[in-house]
Amino acid sequence: MAFKKKFTPKKKFCRFCANKNLPLDYKRADILKDFITDRGKIIARRITGTCAKCQRRLTTEIKRARQMALLYYTATHSTEFRKKM
Ligand SMILES: [Zn+2]
Repeated sequence: MAFKKKFTPKKKFCRFCANKNLPLDYKRADILKDFITDRGKIIARRITGTCAKCQRRLTTEIKRARQMALLYYTATHSTEFRKKM
């Protein structure tokens, strides 16, 4: 498997609070992807630095995106992953 997406372990801040223009929306799978691992798991708050309020919203949006098939549940569902195998 290719190397994981790395988060800079520098100063942590809530990306959604810091940038009010950053939409927290299930339709923006490209943004939500930053908050899930390459295996489709939601990255813990202590790693991404997202605040409790936004993390809660983020989780619901990710779950919604999964239902809309914008995001995948597990790596095996991802065609991208299969290609790497
Ligand atoms: Zn926040």
